[in-house]
Amino acid sequence: MDKDYYNILGVAKTASADEIKKAYRKLAMKYHPDRNPDDKEAEEKFKAAAEAYEVLRDTEKRKIYDRFGVEGLRNSGYSGPGNFEDIFSSFGDIFGDLFGFSQGNRRHNQGPIQGNDLRYDLTISFMDAVLGVEKEIEITKRETCWTCEGSGIRPGHKNKVCSYCHGSGQVTRSQGFFSIRTPCPECQGQGEIITDPCNECHGSGLIAKKKKVSLKIPAGVDTGARMRLRGEGEGGRKGGANGDLYVIIHVEEHNFFQRDGDLIYCELPLSMTQASLGCSLEVPTISGKKTLKIPKGTQPGQTFRLHGEGVPSLRGHGKGDMVVEIKVVIPKKLSKRQEELLQEFADLESGEEEHHSEGFFKKLFSGNLGS
Ligand SMILES: [Zn+2]
Ligand SMILES: [Zn+2]
Repeated sequence: MDKDYYNILGVAKTASADEIKKAYRKLAMKYHPDRNPDDKEAEEKFKAAAEAYEVLRDTEKRKIYDRFGVEGLRNSGYSGPGNFEDIFSSFGDIFGDLFGFSQGNRRHNQGPIQGNDLRYDLTISFMDAVLGVEKEIEITKRETCWTCEGSGIRPGHKNKVCSYCHGSGQVTRSQGFFSIRTPCPECQGQGEIITDPCNECHGSGLIAKKKKVSLKIPAGVDTGARMRLRGEGEGGRKGGANGDLYVIIHVEEHNFFQRDGDLIYCELPLSMTQASLGCSLEVPTISGKKTLKIPKGTQPGQTFRLHGEGVPSLRGHGKGDMVVEIKVVIPKKLSKRQEELLQEFADLESGEEEHHSEGFFKKLFSGNLGS
């Protein structure tokens, strides 16, 4: 019986190249021998998935397989992935990101080594996020040692070839059916041993330093915004470029304003007389105080929109709006005079032809509220 490669990867026959790659990555992660030592079943599944992927990733092979099956592939000269050394080398792109296998390959040849990227979490105030701000942050990072230019070797001296891996920087590790190459533990994949380390950095090629970095945070950033500062990460070694610094923005809450994208919300408490009679009020906005006209008969929960009083767009397309939501505050204590007046008001109300809440209750009890 023919092997069903689609079934093995768990994808449809119509799956795109991307779907196939994703499905394979998932299986490879799950059944990888490093994660399942001495598990024969996982090993078989890993092999099967690799074979299926080997065929389906290749448009030509996939076409042949779709029409003629595994037999057709064999007739066309394809014999399947020979051994697992092959699988790792031909899928270096995938395993490179997943397991760091190709890292060892890249590292051992004494070429330039790029510095690590760094992350810095920066908390700013609500207003700074809305209006933009310049900040100076201080970070401690490892910078390239300029005494040895990041090589770690005392100037004028040379390294010794690693006797453990004979300079290749890699060792081959056997694990049952598999043989996997890993960076040499003796020289950490460098292929050579530093016999005369640089006095300044003690052979690491890097020196920890405090550094101040200025940041221009644009108006309109929000929590989660990520700023990349090229070359401000850790120093490179052996002529490699510096890493980058990523600043992740966190925005504090505001007592009065809330924000959703470029909209700003706030609640405006009104007394019941202000809401009933209407009024003109000064409302705080992010750009100062603005006058807001409250019409007669304004209801709790009613909103007013102040155009252009929201957050500036990060992409520079104008500004959002501010939405003011009315909250009507009922007084908890009344003076004697206030109570008299309100009672008078209530008497007037109950004298009205059909009081609306009375009408509501009548309908409620007769089951006549509609559906
Ligand atoms: Zn040094
Ligand atoms: Zn070595």
